[in-house]
Amino acid sequence: MGTKGIEIVGMDVNKLLEMLNKALADEWLAYYQYWVGARVVKGPMRELTAEELEEHAEEELEHAEKLAERIIQLGGTPVLSPDEWSKLTNCGYEVPKDPHVEKILDQNIKGEQCAIDVYNKLAELTRGTDQITFGMIMSILKDEVKHEEDLQAIVEDLEIMKGGK
Ligand code: FE
Ligand code: FE
Ligand code: MG
Repeated sequence: MGTKGIEIVGMDVNKLLEMLNKALADEWLAYYQYWVGARVVKGPMRELTAEELEEHAEEELEHAEKLAERIIQLGGTPVLSPDEWSKLTNCGYEVPKDPHVEKILDQNIKGEQCAIDVYNKLAELTRGTDQITFGMIMSILKDEVKHEEDLQAIVEDLEIMKGGK
């Protein structure tokens, strides 16, 4: 940890660390939800959906890496045990018990919408008070917005396939 680097943070660093660790727990759960979803998914457009889920899993892992790096820079400790993920999480974990493509997509869309809310709040909190965290949060938020859109586009195509519109 760099002392001057922490000094320039214009907000309660412990509060910030707590929120970053909660987001880190979310990212690990999101990672696994996508990773396992990509493997169990069944139904129309299975292959394309699995590829998208796999790609999102990798991107959630990158988010976890960014958050952990920033937590350490701020003098904190990234959550050390998977046991804590379910306690710290904002967005939870939706068990993909029903492997049908529409169900899996729906669960992941809900996860993305929660993530968008979490990062939007973190952006508001860090804007003007912690430029570095703010920049990181904005890049993650941008990815989450794209994730939601990617999944909703597949849902839209599935609807068209069903002959709806
Ligand atoms: Fe993420
Ligand atoms: Fe995401
Ligand atoms: Mg994508």
